[in-house]
Order: sequence, then structure tokens, then C-alpha cells
Amino acid sequence: MRILLVSDIHANQTALEDVLADAGSFDAVWNLGDAVGYGPDPVWCVNRLVEIGAQPSLAGNHDLACLGEIDISDFNPVAQIATHWTASQLGECERRYLRGLPPMTVVDGITLAHASPRAPVWEYVTDATVATEVFGHFTTQLCLVGHTHVASYAVLHPDSKRAEFLRLEANQRLTLGADRLIVNPGSVGQPRDHDPRAAFALLDLNAGTITARRVSYDVAAVQARMRAAGLPRPLISRIAAGR
Ligand code: ZN
Repeated sequence: MRILLVSDIHANQTALEDVLADAGSFDAVWNLGDAVGYGPDPVWCVNRLVEIGAQPSLAGNHDLACLGEIDISDFNPVAQIATHWTASQLGECERRYLRGLPPMTVVDGITLAHASPRAPVWEYVTDATVATEVFGHFTTQLCLVGHTHVASYAVLHPDSKRAEFLRLEANQRLTLGADRLIVNPGSVGQPRDHDPRAAFALLDLNAGTITARRVSYDVAAVQARMRAAGLPRPLISRIAAGR
């Protein structure tokens, strides 16, 4: 069973298309949330997730914001503008799909949360201290998260009380075993780890491995659509820098 792990697609059609092409064959797609927000292609991305049968598929903070289900007064002004634009694009079909998504679930003995199992919509797992605490909030060996847009993982050895937190490099392969893991495959549509290539991962349940992958996509084409949509300039420039 080969599972394609995607997160934080953020309405980036070109990145998602290239991820799907690069991933090779897979038996399932698990989406860790934030299918929309920031990017120019929210309707296309939601419908593509439906077509490929992404299941489980999680709701992220931007998905919920675009549905009007969470307060966005904490969002920066640029994110607020993008949220309003995205909300104006979504039709009833896309809204119904997004409304049906949970921010967290457990499948095949694996915990999936958009942000973290402690706070599934909002918490950023960005260092060893937070990761150590978060390990106390789920019981499975493996937890998959998104939200930070940084490909990374935290590992808790069976005889240790403190987790390690590490970058997940392109083509790095993690082995599922005695260590407990929190793995973030990174962002498909808006990476923030100074590598603009789309990030994703492949989970092989038979082999017991997770392999991190990156794929280049046509950033300029996405930027042109963002400009045409009138999306804020900082959002247009950041996808070229991967930050
Ligand atoms: Zn996101």
C-alpha cells in the first residue's frame, strides 16, 4: 500500500499537477489540509482532490477561514485579502466538500492532524520542545501533520523523554519502527523552507517507510494567474523564494 501524502496545497494547481505526475503509482492520497487559500486555483484544487479520491482529507485553518468558520482577525492583512478572494471563488460544491472535512483523524493506526494533535487547527510544531509536548497528545507510533510548510520530522526514542526535531531533506527515507515519529511532508503549494520546489511524501505501509520528495514546477505560470486574480504581491513573490 503506497500512500501519497500531500499538505498545504494552497490552491496551487501547477504544483499539485506536478506532484501527482512525479509521485508515480499510488493506492491512496491523504491530504493534511489547507487545500485552498493564498493561491489562484482553489476550485480546481478542491475538485482534483475529489477526483483522485483523497481520503482521509483534512481541513486546515485556511480552509475553515474561507468557509467563514473561524475568525481571521489574527491573520495578517495579506492572508485576509487572499481569504476573501478565495471565499468569493468557491462554489456550493467546493464549500460542501471543505465543510465535511475534519481537522484530525486516525486511520490505519496513524494519527493525522492539520497542525498538531494537541491543537489540530492552529499549533505550529516547529521545534523539539513543542514536539516533545505534542507526543503526549496522541497514542499512535506515527503522526502526520502539515501547517508549517516546512518539511520536517520529530523523533522520540523509546528510552528518551525528549524528542529531536529535524529537517526532512528531499529523498530522505524514514523507517517506521520502535521510534515514535511526527512527520510533516512540507507544502505542495507554498513551501517555506527556502526550497521553492513542491514538497510531498510517499508512505509505504508494506515497507514501513516514508520518503520525502520535492519537484520543481512552473512558478512563473502560477504567479501570472495570481497577478491576474489581483492577489497580494507578497504572496506572489514568496512562492519563488520558498519562504
Ligand atoms: Zn497552510
